[in-house]
Amino acid sequence: MAQDRERIQTQLIHAGEPTPRHAGAVVTPVFQSSTFEYGGQGNYDDVRYLRLNNSPNHEVLHRKLAAVEGGEAALVTASGMAAISTTLLTVLRPGDHILAQRTLYGGTHDFITETLVRWGVTHTFVDGDDPDSWAAALRPETRAIYLEALSNPLLEILDLPAVAGFARENDLVSIVDATFTSPILLRPLELGFDIVLHSATKYLNGHSDIVAGAIASSDAHIDAIRHTLNLLGGSLDPHACFLLQRGLKTLAVRVRQQSATALAVASALHEHAAVSTVYYPGLPHHPHHQRAATLLRGGFGGMVSMELAGGVEAADRLTQRLRLPINAPSLGGPETLVTRPAQTSHAGLDPKTRRDLGIGDGLVRLSIGLEDADDLIADLQQALD
Ligand SMILES: *Cc1c(COP(=O)(O)O)cnc(C)c1O
Repeated sequence: MAQDRERIQTQLIHAGEPTPRHAGAVVTPVFQSSTFEYGGQGNYDDVRYLRLNNSPNHEVLHRKLAAVEGGEAALVTASGMAAISTTLLTVLRPGDHILAQRTLYGGTHDFITETLVRWGVTHTFVDGDDPDSWAAALRPETRAIYLEALSNPLLEILDLPAVAGFARENDLVSIVDATFTSPILLRPLELGFDIVLHSATKYLNGHSDIVAGAIASSDAHIDAIRHTLNLLGGSLDPHACFLLQRGLKTLAVRVRQQSATALAVASALHEHAAVSTVYYPGLPHHPHHQRAATLLRGGFGGMVSMELAGGVEAADRLTQRLRLPINAPSLGGPETLVTRPAQTSHAGLDPKTRRDLGIGDGLVRLSIGLEDADDLIADLQQALD
């Protein structure tokens, strides 16, 4: 395991870097050129043109991400939603049916229930924790199963090897959005998933300064998805590629530090009288603690949610009184962010659906940054007091 972890840390720095280096540059420069000299390519997707995702900045990232995820190939996209929508539009055809976990990122939920429905793809939301319900929802036209590695905002983790096995047995393409874990904590392809997706906006880049997406899978899936991406046009700008490459190099140290701080923060919150429930998979009372301990490596991630005893008003007062965490959506950056999912990520759902999913209006979600843990805990304590 230690050897495994050291390997990914080394890959983040060295995998995929060009040999020889461009003009000897230690860091791959930004290739701000929309087009490149024709080199005799016979295939449209191989012609060197920025929308076709094949500039030197793209190619370094593709090789690095494939290595880090343990996939044959990888692809970067203009956003996490570009990765998700392009993948689903490649895997699914009109008439197909998809199984999806009930608690999905809002954009993904809307893409499945609005856009895909318009294109003749139906869906069934299943309880990720109830394998019998997956089998009951299967139809002859079911083509894929889609889930998130750690659910937002309650940080539930499914029996991922069971999902991958179920998909294999039933000839489904298994797709997992692993934004919340990053490949430092979880490598879904090694568990048998077909396709892993990321909003690289979050941990992979890690500095809250770009939007980007990433996909890793087999050569066959990535070739097909790249062709769709080239036509839909969701390619990542070379400067954003450069920033993502820079961010990736520190992914391991950032995620491990954020996980350690999150565990300390979650433990402190658990002790505080103003907090009724803390949701953190690293705490023994979390319903999926045991499973998370088995599946995740090197920590339980940087996301912590809590329900306050004082409900909505207390949550509002808390976000106003905090000095360090910034009240903003998104996650995975160096600054600790605080948000109320009922106001941001899950604002699109009606209040009853939100409650059914266990997301109270007073739920507060923290994305733990890279500040000193004691400073964060002291700030949370003064705001809660
Ligand atoms: C943010 C996020 C997305 C969407 O990514 P963008 O980069 O904003 O397009 C998808 N899935 C999850 C889990 C996310 O947190």
